[in-house]
Amino acid sequence: MVIAVGQEEVERLERRYHEKGFGDLYPKLELIGRDRIAELEPAVVEERAPDVELRALYTPDGYVVDYGETAKSLVAEAREESGVDVYTGTPVEGVVETADGYAVRTGGGTAMADGVVVSAGSHSLQFAKQLGYGEDMALLPIAGSFFLAEDFLNGKVYTLQMGKLPFAAVHGDADVHDASVTRFGPTAKPVPALERGELSTVGDFLDVFGFDLDSFVSYANILADRVLLPYVLRNLVYDLPELGTRAFLPHVQKVVPGATLEDIEPARGYGGIRPQIVDTSAHTLDMGEATIEGEDIIFNITPSPGASTCLKNARRDALSVVDFLDGDYQFDTAGFDAATVENFPHETE
Ligand SMILES: Cc1cc2nc3c(=O)[nH]c(=O)nc-3n(C[C@H](O)[C@H](O)[C@H](O)COP(=O)(O)OP(=O)(O)OC[C@H]3O[C@@H](n4cnc5c(N)ncnc54)[C@H](O)[C@@H]3O)c2cc1C
Repeated sequence: MVIAVGQEEVERLERRYHEKGFGDLYPKLELIGRDRIAELEPAVVEERAPDVELRALYTPDGYVVDYGETAKSLVAEAREESGVDVYTGTPVEGVVETADGYAVRTGGGTAMADGVVVSAGSHSLQFAKQLGYGEDMALLPIAGSFFLAEDFLNGKVYTLQMGKLPFAAVHGDADVHDASVTRFGPTAKPVPALERGELSTVGDFLDVFGFDLDSFVSYANILADRVLLPYVLRNLVYDLPELGTRAFLPHVQKVVPGATLEDIEPARGYGGIRPQIVDTSAHTLDMGEATIEGEDIIFNITPSPGASTCLKNARRDALSVVDFLDGDYQFDTAGFDAATVENFPHETE
């Protein structure tokens, strides 16, 4: 569910539901009030001042998915297919266009390919730029951290996202593997690196930055924004020891008013970096993900919620790859849909 706290947020939430099409887009989404929220998520209502307006959008079709496990299971199945080789722990050092396709240079040798899909997170843009694609794009890497608390929630409870920001607002959710833990976050802190805690990726960031006038103007324009700037400055504090936890507590209390400083602690080893896309022609920060489709090659740059959309992207890319291979292969669209989308309950009851 996503909650709105206070009159101004309640009005915004109701507008999104009734006027902006959220209610039509998700037929099972319900607009619910305090009593129903209390039944579903008691901790969201307990200790909340009774005169503060509270509303939520709630869907009974809630899923929490461990996409790491999903990926492992897909790889395990792929390995069983004849003619499929899977190389993990094998860094790709470069992709070069040749007269008959692409040469993919790796630590374990070079593979020749008629078609390539680069899904290397923020590094995808680095590969794209090396091949002359993505010229009007740069990245604003946004690190996200979490805080852990005891078992406060039954499902995911989001706070209201600011329309202008491409990051989900702070939410609390029960850990996918351990229901006794509730996780709050993520924070959003710009960092000049492509991977968390990997100093070596500062150079990779400089590759995708571009160092031209448009990049500088874009970053200046984005970071000077009167919504984004205060948001970013506040987020710089949350990773500081002690002070960070204290500063983050109000976000937790917005979801669970009864939470105290003793209830939360920084989650070590959680989190990562979201590669937010900068449009260096329009000098703006883009919402969501980017796919660059070139000549027999695709580059996917997937900030949040790239996990939730990964199977849809895989379906689209599989169809493109079949096209790259000039009709020698087919993709079983019906089989894919039967195994995935058709298992998802779309219909209203
Ligand atoms: C804090 C945070 C919160 C998020 N919350 C959500 C959420 O609630 N819901 C949601 O749907 N999504 C969420 N996301 C986003 C989600 O994690 C990503 O969209 C998703 O992981 C992207 O998947 P990917 O496979 O495209 O890229 P990645 O997961 O980034 O994987 C890319 C892989 O490529 C590897 N790689 C890079 N370069 C090379 C190379 N040269 N050679 C070989 N391998 C290479 C990397 O090591 C990495 O393993 C969140 C992300 C963060 C950081």
